[in-house]
Amino acid sequence: MDIGLVTEGEIFPLPGRGRPAEKLDLRPESAYFVGIKLTGDTLYAAVTDLHASVVATEEHKLVSRDVQDVVVLIAEMVDRFRAGFRRVAAVGVCSAGDVEIVNGHGVLIGSNFLGWPRVHLEELVEAATGLPTTIANDVMALTVAHHWFGAGVGCRSLAVVSFGAGIGSGLVANYQLIRGANGRSGKVSHIPVTADGPVCDQGHVGCASAYVTIPAILRNAGTTSFNETLERFEKGDDRAVRAIKNAGKALGTVVAQIADLLDPLKVIITGEGSDVARLADSELEAALESRRDPAAGRVGVEVYPFHFSDYAWAAAISAIRQVLETER
Ligand SMILES: [Zn+2]
Repeated sequence: MDIGLVTEGEIFPLPGRGRPAEKLDLRPESAYFVGIKLTGDTLYAAVTDLHASVVATEEHKLVSRDVQDVVVLIAEMVDRFRAGFRRVAAVGVCSAGDVEIVNGHGVLIGSNFLGWPRVHLEELVEAATGLPTTIANDVMALTVAHHWFGAGVGCRSLAVVSFGAGIGSGLVANYQLIRGANGRSGKVSHIPVTADGPVCDQGHVGCASAYVTIPAILRNAGTTSFNETLERFEKGDDRAVRAIKNAGKALGTVVAQIADLLDPLKVIITGEGSDVARLADSELEAALESRRDPAAGRVGVEVYPFHFSDYAWAAAISAIRQVLETER
């Protein structure tokens, strides 16, 4: 599909591609992209131009998790965006869960927060909107977004660790996202952290999920919301302080494992729970130092402040990427 995105210049070469905007002269307003992040109860949407700048956002509570209902909600929203923005070129959707490519189309697998075991979401959204659609795992989409336009631009190797309701990581090696054999790379949820302590939903004692996810932090702190936990931490409440510090230690352990395996130039920590990395920075740093192979050297760790619309922004970038790669 040639939609006239490029004004001049050569098509960028594959090796070393990091940020298309640096290599292509793209008219930002020549096309718009709708990015959507689905959680178990909310749809976050962002519209970006071709330079990945967000020009509009919307947020909708899901009144139903029925697949058709969600697809209709997406289609209605995309229609509204198309009325406001000329040339919406593509749609990107991301969610927790894995994406398997079946006959060239993305199938969302194991999206537990939505209760969707296996959904042909790409084809459904494409049929409902009439627009090219791409679906992605949310952390992988966020990783590509940071690599192309965000905090990881230009990094030959990069890791993004994001945590909130769960924890996941996205990995870039030699400028390419690592998808693995089945689109399931970067699983860090159950990395062992301590020999004793709390138990995760899989029955592991002291794994990352038993400490770092927000549900685990609330359980360990005896609180009912993340904000309440942060407030109690600030007041020096013992249990909240311990929960946050242990989460920082677990996070440091996860980052150490990733850093030893990948040797990234930078690790970006983000997600709904990323305040933990700031509040427990010394625990994170100490775990990172003690768990890394001493021969592996240091790694840059950057905490990136997060809002849920970041995932929608990332999903839009997945759509940009798909269109640019189709044009190439
Ligand atoms: Zn576990």
